[in-house]
Amino acid sequence: MRDDVEITEVLAEVADIARPQASDGRVADYIPALASADPGRFGLALTEMDGTEHTIGDVDEPFPIQSISKVFSLVLAMQKVDRAEGVAEELWSRVGREPSGDPFNSLVQLEKERGIPRNPMINAGALVIDDILITHCEDAKRSTLDLLETLAGEPLEIDQEVYDSEQGALHRNLAMANLLKDFGNLHHAVDAVLDNYVHACAVSMTTRQLARAMRFLANGGVEPATGEPILSPELAKRVAAIMLTCGTYDAAGEFAFNVGLPCKSGVAGGIVGIVPRRLGLCVWSPPLDPSGNSLAGRVALHELAERLDLSIV
Ligand code: GLU
Repeated sequence: MRDDVEITEVLAEVADIARPQASDGRVADYIPALASADPGRFGLALTEMDGTEHTIGDVDEPFPIQSISKVFSLVLAMQKVDRAEGVAEELWSRVGREPSGDPFNSLVQLEKERGIPRNPMINAGALVIDDILITHCEDAKRSTLDLLETLAGEPLEIDQEVYDSEQGALHRNLAMANLLKDFGNLHHAVDAVLDNYVHACAVSMTTRQLARAMRFLANGGVEPATGEPILSPELAKRVAAIMLTCGTYDAAGEFAFNVGLPCKSGVAGGIVGIVPRRLGLCVWSPPLDPSGNSLAGRVALHELAERLDLSIV
């Protein structure tokens, strides 16, 4: 990495360019509690493998991680693949690994493809992953929170208001879960799977914590702060590959083109990413572009990748 002063200057330039872009975006409001997010908030954090942090803006303000949780749910499922026979076959026969090219909550593809979601980063895929977690974890909700706390190195909380609000606005995800169930691709009760899903989406984390929590994926699956193996290097690489190809809604091609890093977005305006062997990172700005990615976040990642030469492609 460049020296600390230079990185601080780059972050300031990136924030100056990206922050004003937020005014062209729209804060998600289909989950009522998300609508009250302050559109002016902006945070950007990079964490190196040795724990050095580079930050600018509102990096210590918590926000609901929403779909960023899909990365961690997949990691938990991959842990089961690592530890028990037959789980890999179960997992990859029930969910694919191709970009969807459709909105994250689309029902159309699921109907056409007979209940096999395209990938674990869209809602239908995450619901199947949650179903698998319920089978293989004693308490799937607790396991997700435990994993995130291990990676963030701090206790975390659920945003109860967001949780309740999403439970009251579940119509589309409920339809999706029922469709999956009808195709035989949910083994547990629809309500239990959805509860798990909404719980993971409502975990509240800061930009700084998320940048830290991503690092193990940049470090061959080993948590750099403690040396604890979270995933084998082979499976960590696979999670990153799915992020690169499927992590940013139906703009994953644009992201690969303009940023060139494995990333995952959430509708509360967070985007996490990794630079293999170098960084965990997170940017947060609530207003979204039409694909559902944080608008200022997308611009910030592009500027950052260009200036620090981070792209892996
Ligand atoms: N809880 C959100 C939903 O299911 C997550 C969407 C997202 O962040 O992409 O609609």
